[in-house]
Amino acid sequence: MRSSSARTEGKSSGEALHIADVPGEWDVHKPRLGSEFELIARYFAPLARGFPGAYGLLDDVALINPAPGNELAVKTDTIVGGVDFLADTPPELIARKALRVNLSDLAAKAAVPRAYLIDLVLPDTVDEAWIAAFAAGLAHDQDEYGVHLVGGDMSSTSGPIVIAVTALGEVALGRVVRRGGAQPNDTVFVTGTIGDAVLGLSLLDGTLTGLEPASAAFLSARYRLPEPRVALGRRLAGIASAAIDVSDGLVADLRHVCGTSQLSAIIEAKLVPLSHAARKAIGDDRARLARALTGGDDYEILFTAPAVAAARVAELSRSSGVAISAIGRMVPPAAGDQASVVVLDDSGRPIPFASEGWTHFRRGPRERDPR
Ligand SMILES: [Mg+2]
Repeated sequence: MRSSSARTEGKSSGEALHIADVPGEWDVHKPRLGSEFELIARYFAPLARGFPGAYGLLDDVALINPAPGNELAVKTDTIVGGVDFLADTPPELIARKALRVNLSDLAAKAAVPRAYLIDLVLPDTVDEAWIAAFAAGLAHDQDEYGVHLVGGDMSSTSGPIVIAVTALGEVALGRVVRRGGAQPNDTVFVTGTIGDAVLGLSLLDGTLTGLEPASAAFLSARYRLPEPRVALGRRLAGIASAAIDVSDGLVADLRHVCGTSQLSAIIEAKLVPLSHAARKAIGDDRARLARALTGGDDYEILFTAPAVAAARVAELSRSSGVAISAIGRMVPPAAGDQASVVVLDDSGRPIPFASEGWTHFRRGPRERDPR
């Protein structure tokens, strides 16, 4: 890892840029934090132990060799305070979620996570206790998912916290599960339950109230700390024809699969798996049901598979202990029509959605609810 000030100090003498010339917000030498090199040595270098190619975070690059017969799958995701997480989120949880959302993408591609890099851009409201707790969160999930930190970067800002994680995984050569492989009549499956996270967010921001404590705690936890389907995902190769993780929302992510596969999808709302807590939160409220179907952050895996794979899907669910539900099927798009997702209600009528899911730079369901 290195910092912006390390960059400026490292200029050759002919083009020396003194640290004092750099605008204040780029000065990472905040007295309360000590130097970035001390921070890296104290909190981040220990996270590289056990991965020889990381060189203890003391070199300029890391070396990664996929096992024979495998290739590297790479994924990056950036989260911003006030946009992707609530400002008062404990740093351990911010760290774990930042890592987990990337592992979720690897899982949806049948890749096994191995390593990650992290870029931290921190405002001066962050103190050393925050960094210690953040690193402890990473350490916890490194153990849980068997990954190591192999590099990164630090900088400072007058804006919100920005965290970018790049995750590296291994997938058997040619076995990656892509978005575009769905075929007409393939069944659409989803793991776990859908909508918990967006309902949890509604509880945290106060737009959903009156739920009994156990359900509220469950939904909030699903939002704050997703469980990427890492163990299940690696076994999707050879079963799934297409897959994606549900990060933007069930309908939006299925639409991504439809667009890339050049197909449409028909989903039955009553088949979409909802947790007990989500059912209680939704009740008969159709707007809340729509929110559950289009809200993001579930980090379940949505995949398609041909009918002949049904027994293997059932076996995958049994042996992994994760529920897998069939929720609809892929169909050719209507002539002249774009690939679309239609969700039918109990009486077979399409449910209209104001928005299919989260998107940056456009009105989306989270716009009212900055996280
Ligand atoms: Mg994704």
